[in-house]
Amino acid sequence: DIPHLAEDDPQAAALKYVHKSPDDSKHCSGCLLIQGTDGDEWRPCSVFPGKLVSATGWCSAFAPK
Ligand code: SF4
Repeated sequence: DIPHLAEDDPQAAALKYVHKSPDDSKHCSGCLLIQGTDGDEWRPCSVFPGKLVSATGWCSAFAPK
């Protein structure tokens, strides 16, 4: 299984990653860098290889689709 990215992971913290976006218009599920399958709750992200991010999350690398 692929582990979930922790908010206190140093790389996550460096990009201010959170599981719940503070902005409902900016979610990982709407980011160009998300991977995996639409609708999944936890998905790979090209910025955080080897970890899964929350579809409702956000980080400062967010880029709208
Ligand atoms: Fe989410 Fe950041 Fe990955 Fe975009 S780059 S999918 S905002 S963790």
